[in-house]
Amino acid sequence: MTSDFNMIKQRALERFLRYVAIDTQADENSPTYPSTRKQFDLADLLVEELLRLGISNARVDEHCVVMATLEATVATPQPVIGFLAHLDTATEVSGAKVKPNIIENYRGGDIVVNKEKGVVISEAENGELAKCIGQTLVTADGTTLLGSDDKAGIAAIMTAIGYLIEHPEIPHGKVAVAFTPDEEISKGVEFFDIKEFGADFAYTIDGGFTGELNNETFSADAAVIEMKGRDMHPGTAKDRMVNTLRVMAELIVRLPKNMAPETTQGHEPYIHPQTLDGHVGVSRLKLLLRDFSDEGLAFERQKLERIVEETGRLFPGVVSTLTVTPTYRNMLPELRKHPEVTARLEEAVRKAGIVPDWQPIRGGTDGAVLTARGLPTPNIFTGGCNSHSLTEWQSVDALATIAEVIIHIVRGV
Ligand SMILES: [Zn+2]
Repeated sequence: MTSDFNMIKQRALERFLRYVAIDTQADENSPTYPSTRKQFDLADLLVEELLRLGISNARVDEHCVVMATLEATVATPQPVIGFLAHLDTATEVSGAKVKPNIIENYRGGDIVVNKEKGVVISEAENGELAKCIGQTLVTADGTTLLGSDDKAGIAAIMTAIGYLIEHPEIPHGKVAVAFTPDEEISKGVEFFDIKEFGADFAYTIDGGFTGELNNETFSADAAVIEMKGRDMHPGTAKDRMVNTLRVMAELIVRLPKNMAPETTQGHEPYIHPQTLDGHVGVSRLKLLLRDFSDEGLAFERQKLERIVEETGRLFPGVVSTLTVTPTYRNMLPELRKHPEVTARLEEAVRKAGIVPDWQPIRGGTDGAVLTARGLPTPNIFTGGCNSHSLTEWQSVDALATIAEVIIHIVRGV
C-alpha cells in the first residue's frame, strides 16, 4: 500500500481543498439545531460523494448527521468499525471564503501566511514544523481559519473509503462512517443515534499532531455560585450593606492559584472562574471544574464548598448557594473495559510507520460522550496544528497517513 501513498496523498488533498472551501462555522448563540444551516452544504456534498462512490445508504438526517455503511468484503464475522469527524468549524475565527495556500516540499523556516497583516507561523513557536520537512503543507491566507479542524478528519475518512471501494481484495468487515455538526459548541452528538450507526466501536478523527492518540479526556463539572447580599443607598450603608461584589472578589482570591488553567498542563486538574455577573445585591459566578478522575472532581467540589463557607463567614448577611452539575466524564475507565479497541488503533498506527503518542485531552470530545453512552470511541490525530486561529496549518502527508491508519484498522484477519 505504501507504493500508493502519493496517490492517496493527492486524493486526500483534492478532497481537503473541496471541503475547506465550504463555510461551516457553528454559532453558539443560535437556538436551532444544527446551529447554522450552512453545515448542510458540506453534509449534502458528502452524501453526494458517498453515493457516487457506490454507497447507496448514504444519507443526512434533519439534524445534519451524515451516515453511511460500507459492506464487508469477507463472510467471516468481523466487528463493525465506525469512524467519525465533525462538519463544523470553530466560532473564534471566520471560516468564510477560505483561500488555501499549498506549500510543496516544505524546506523549514517560518511560514509567512499574510505579510501585510503580519500573520506568521514561526518555527520557534511551532516545534511540529521541523518534523514536516519535505512534506506538503496547507495554510489559509491569514484572514480566516483553514478548517483543518475537522475537514482533515473528513478528507481522511472519505479517502480511505474510496480506497477500500477500489480495492475489494482487502478483507474487511462492515465500516460505518458518520459526519456530525456542532462539535465546536459541544453539541456534536446530541442527536446521534448509536443504534442506527451500528458500529461495535468507533474512532473520532479530530485534532492532534501526527502520532497523537487520545483515550483519556477530562472529567468535567460546571459550578455556579449565587450570592444574595443587601443593597441600599451608600450614604446610609454603614453596618447594613452587604456587597456581594466584595464577597465574590474575596472568594476568587481564595481559589487555588496552582490549580488554574493558566498554571497547569498534562494530567493536572483545575478550577476555573469563567464568568462573573452581578451588582451589590446579587452576583453569580460560573466556574469550570476539571480533573481526570471522579475522585479528583469530588475533591474540587469539596474544596469549593469550603471556600464558599469560609468566605461567607467573613461577610455576615450574605447568602451563598453552590450548584454543581456534571458536564462529561473521562472515557478512560470505560475504554479500559475494551482493550482491543485501543490495541487495534495502536497496531494500525505502527503499521503506518508512526510511533503512537498517547496524550490526555484537557477537554472533552464527542468520543467521550459516545463512550459514556455505550460506544467505545477513542480519538485519532488529524495532523493539523493551531486550530481555531489564523495560523492553522495542515500536513497533507498526515492526511494520507490517517487514511492508511483507517485502512489498517479495518483490515480483517
Ligand atoms: Zn475538532
